[in-house]
Amino acid sequence: MSHVRVRFAPSPTGFFHIGSARTALFNWLYARHTKGIFILRIEDTDKERNTEDAKQILFQGMKWLGLYWDEGPEVGGDYGPYYQSERTDIYRCYLEQLQKIDRTYEKDGAIYFKVTGEPQIIEDAVRGRVERTEDKDFVIFRSNGLPVFHFVNVVDDITMGITHVIRGEDHLSNTSKHTELMKAFKVELPQYAHIPLLLKQQGPGKMSKRDRGSLIEEYEQRHFLADAVRNYLCLLGWSPKDDREILPIEEIIQLFDLKGINKNNAKFDEKKLAFINTDYLRNLSLEKFHMLCQPILNESKIIPEDVNEIFVHDVLKICREKIRSIEELPKYCTYFFSEKYSINEKAKQKIFKKGDPLARLNEILSSLETLNSFSEETLEKTVASLAMTHNVSSGEYIHPTRIAVSGNQYWTWLLCNASSIRKRKCFVPY
Ligand code: GLU
Repeated sequence: MSHVRVRFAPSPTGFFHIGSARTALFNWLYARHTKGIFILRIEDTDKERNTEDAKQILFQGMKWLGLYWDEGPEVGGDYGPYYQSERTDIYRCYLEQLQKIDRTYEKDGAIYFKVTGEPQIIEDAVRGRVERTEDKDFVIFRSNGLPVFHFVNVVDDITMGITHVIRGEDHLSNTSKHTELMKAFKVELPQYAHIPLLLKQQGPGKMSKRDRGSLIEEYEQRHFLADAVRNYLCLLGWSPKDDREILPIEEIIQLFDLKGINKNNAKFDEKKLAFINTDYLRNLSLEKFHMLCQPILNESKIIPEDVNEIFVHDVLKICREKIRSIEELPKYCTYFFSEKYSINEKAKQKIFKKGDPLARLNEILSSLETLNSFSEETLEKTVASLAMTHNVSSGEYIHPTRIAVSGNQYWTWLLCNASSIRKRKCFVPY
C-alpha cells in the first residue's frame, strides 16, 4: 500500500451534485491508481442542512457509483471521527496550539488568525504554480463558538494525514488561507490539485442544482446504468488522450493521474452521457438487460400477464439497441404489447403529405397476409417487389408502415422485427 491518503469532504446539502460526484470520483480514482486510501469526511458544521436524509442521499449516490470509501462513516478507520460535528475537541486543541504561539486574537467575540502576509506559493498539480497573498487576518472561530470552514478543513487534513487535496477549483482562492494555517502548525503542505469547474450545457456559468441532469440521484431514479454515468464523469476534465471515451473502469484506474487532468473547464453534455449509456446498454448480456428492465416494465404495467416470455425477450433485444436509457423503455415498447399506443401526429402528418400512404398500406397489408415465412429477408423482399411493381420507392411503404404499427416514424428497426409484426393483431391502415 502506498502512503497516499485522499479525501472527499462534502457538506451534506440534501442532494448529490454531479460536480461533487466528479470530485469524489477523481479522489477515488487517484486512491485506486496509487493503491492509497480514499476517505469520506463529512463537513457537517452547518447544522441546519445536515439531516440524516441528506447524508443518506450522499452515501447512496456514492455507493451507486461504486465509490466505496476505505475510511469514513459506516466503515470507521483509525483517524476518526469522520464527522466534523464530532471533532470539536480536536479543533479546540488545535486552537490552543495557535494561541500558544500567539497567532490568534479576539475581536467582537470572534477569534481571528494572524496571517504572515507572505506570498503563498501553491504548486498545484493541475493549475501549476499559483501565487496568492493573504493580507487580512481571518476569523477561525465565530462569536457563537463554532469553528470556521478554513480552520476545520485544515485541521482535519492535518490530523487525517491527507497527502493530496483534490477538490473543485472554486476552492483555489481559499488555498492561501489554508497554507497560512498549515505553516503555522508547522506541517508539510499536501499536494493540491484543483479540478476545473463543471459548466452547464448551455450558456455561461457553473452547473447548478437547478440545471437538468445535475443530480446523481436523478440518474439512479431514471434507471441509467451506474457504470455508464461513472464513465461519463471520468471524462469531465480527464481523458485517456487517445480519442477513446468508453473504457472499463479498471483501465481508467490504471491510466488516471493528476497530471492528466485538464486545466480547461468541462461542459456538461447530456447527449454524450446518453450515448455512453446506450453503449453500455448494448454491451449488457440480454439476461442482465432483461433483469434491469423488469422493475420498470412491472411499474409501467404495459406487459399483459399471459405474455410469452420469449416474445418479451425478443422485444427487449430490439430495444436494447435503440434506447438511450432504460427509462425510455415503456415509451419504446408499448406498441409491442398493446393496441393502445399513441400516434405521433406530427410524424403522421408529415408522412401523409406525400404520395398515397393509405394505398401503400393496403398493398403491403395484402402482401403480408399471404406471406408464409415472416422474416427480415422476406419482409425486405416484399417491400422491394411492391416498390418495383408500383414504381415507387420502398420508403413509401416503410414509413407509413412504421407509423401504422408503432405510432412513430423513427424506429428503423421495425421492419426487421418480423415476429413483432406477426404478433400484431391489427395491422390495418387507418
Ligand atoms: N466541504 C467543502 C466542499 O464541499 C470541502 C472542500 C475541500 O475539499 O477542501 O466544498
